[in-house]
Amino acid sequence: MKLKNEMSLTFESRSSNEGFARTAVSAFISQLAPTIGEITAVSEAVTNCIVHAYKESVGLIYISVKIFEGAVVVIKIRDKGCGIADIEQAMEPLFTTGGEERAGLGFAVMQSFTDKVKVTSREGKGTTVVLEKRLMSRIKDV
Ligand code: ATP
Ligand code: MG
Repeated sequence: MKLKNEMSLTFESRSSNEGFARTAVSAFISQLAPTIGEITAVSEAVTNCIVHAYKESVGLIYISVKIFEGAVVVIKIRDKGCGIADIEQAMEPLFTTGGEERAGLGFAVMQSFTDKVKVTSREGKGTTVVLEKRLMSRIKDV
């Protein structure tokens, strides 16, 4: 796949930054006409970094967005937080460690609005979520 464009962002895991991340990614891929669904998928991944990865603390969240030929968008959301012990279990719909406040549907939302969701994690080291989706291109070049 030929890389056509890319950007990256680093910001603190404050809930006030969730909107910033969502808007920034949305603006970058706006040429590919993303829907609310794709943007919601990014939001879910960022929220997970804020509420789970850095539960009692504030840490950095790293996002990179790559646009490949054919309007394939790959978005990586990475944290250096607590990590996930059992990824398969974490990705099951309704599984949550967040108690009553959480529905356990974040990964299900990411999966339903993208073509591929890949999660890698190491306990105590952090988690990386990669979202991939082929979008529609409004410009001939991409
Ligand atoms: P909801 O997203 O519906 O509010 P949730 O966040 O618990 O609830 P998911 O987003 O599906 O549901 O995540 C499932 C579980 O995976 C979380 O409860 C948490 O235990 C774990 N998890 C997800 N992302 C991370 C992360 N970045 N770092 C550590 N744990 C995570
Ligand atoms: Mg979640």
